[in-house]
Amino acid sequence: MEKPVPRPNGDSAPFWDGCAAHEFRFQRCGDCGKAQFYPRAVCAHCQSRDLKWVVSDGKGTVHSVTTVYRGPSRAFKEDSPYQVALVDMDEGFRFMANVRGGEAEIGTRVRVIYEERGDQTIPQVEIGR
Ligand SMILES: [Zn+2]
Repeated sequence: MEKPVPRPNGDSAPFWDGCAAHEFRFQRCGDCGKAQFYPRAVCAHCQSRDLKWVVSDGKGTVHSVTTVYRGPSRAFKEDSPYQVALVDMDEGFRFMANVRGGEAEIGTRVRVIYEERGDQTIPQVEIGR
């Protein structure tokens, strides 16, 4: 059994293309200036359609973290137990990822790394250095 992979759509394809190039792309609104993630066609803050793609520095701080003892499928059995974190990225958006390279807690600095999974590249985070 293999781990699931994302299915990019029109809104998210630029993000997944970025991951393949090891760039973490997010959207910033040209009207209100706020960052948003996940990718959408309109700004979640002001409904503007003037969204620009920006490359993140890939650094953030753990907002919340949990330990998964039983993954969503048998494909995750070898990884278990593993951590999943909500990460507040320095540019002002939040995303969720698996934690690699140690144990995170609230406030831990992390950086984005990439896992090759079949034809897709999946962003994860590792403990910052
Ligand atoms: Zn906006």
